[in-house]
Amino acid sequence: MSTVFKKIIDKEIPADIVYEDDLSIAFRDINPVAPVHILIIPKKEIPMLSEMNQEDTNLVGHLLWVATKIAKNMDLKGFRVVINNGKEGGQHIFHLHVHLVSGRPLSWPPG
Ligand code: 5GP
Repeated sequence: MSTVFKKIIDKEIPADIVYEDDLSIAFRDINPVAPVHILIIPKKEIPMLSEMNQEDTNLVGHLLWVATKIAKNMDLKGFRVVINNGKEGGQHIFHLHVHLVSGRPLSWPPG
C-alpha cells in the first residue's frame, strides 16, 4: 500500500528535496530530531528493510551512498544513519527510508 512518501516521489505533496536521481529521492524530515534530519528513500516501494529482496541489494547500498554524498556536500562533521524496521522497531511510515541525522552531539545508545 502506498504511503505519503509515494506522494512526495510523485510530487503530489511538497517536500524540501535536497537530492534526487533515478533511483532515490532525499528530503528534509518534517519533524526533525536534530538540526540536520534528512530522509533518503528509494523510488521503488519497499515497505521496510526486512522486505527487501536480494535484487534490491544495489538499491539499498545506493541509499547509503546518497546519504554520504549529502553529508559530504553539507560538510557534516559527523552523522548517524538509522533505518527503523517495523512497528516495534520504531517505524511509522511503511516505505523504506534512511534517516540522516547530524548537527548536534549524538549519544549512544539511542532511545
Ligand atoms: P519512521 O518513524 O517511520 O522511521 O520515520 C518516519 C519519518 O517521516 C518521521 O521522522 C517523520 O517526521 C517523517 N515524516 C512523516 N510524514 C512526513 C511528511 O509528510 N513529510 C516529511 N518531509 N517527513 C515526514
